[in-house]
Amino acid sequence: MPRNLLEKNFKHGRSLLIRLDHGSDMIAEMTEIARSLEIVTGVFNAIGALSSAELGYYDQVKNEYDKIAVEEPAELVSCSGNISVRDGQPFVHAHVVLADRGGKILGGHLMKGCVFAAEVYLQELLGSPLVRVHDPTTGLKLWGEE
Ligand code: ZN
Repeated sequence: MPRNLLEKNFKHGRSLLIRLDHGSDMIAEMTEIARSLEIVTGVFNAIGALSSAELGYYDQVKNEYDKIAVEEPAELVSCSGNISVRDGQPFVHAHVVLADRGGKILGGHLMKGCVFAAEVYLQELLGSPLVRVHDPTTGLKLWGEE
């Protein structure tokens, strides 16, 4: 097994289909859902539409996010994300692919997304919580051992 491979085995918990509130921020809403349902580890996907968004592109030299503002309504073609524990709290990490009126796509790390409509499939995972720790190589908080 590669030296840095982190592998954890989970059991499936609740499998939920959730409609997000119109006008909510997708990251804040998913964080609140995780908190209120006491889900500390999970994976999700979503489709729908966002009325605006802020995406991130991680600059691998500067080790910081460049921000991309999406100010037009967009189809939420695809969203993949996960929930793990960062700083003792459920933390939502999500990436999206958005499409404009002409069908052109844009994607990235989801920093903010104002929900027009969104349907989420959330799979809770049960086991020892997955925790994010600072990774000096990338400057990111990645899954690791505390
Ligand atoms: Zn990301």
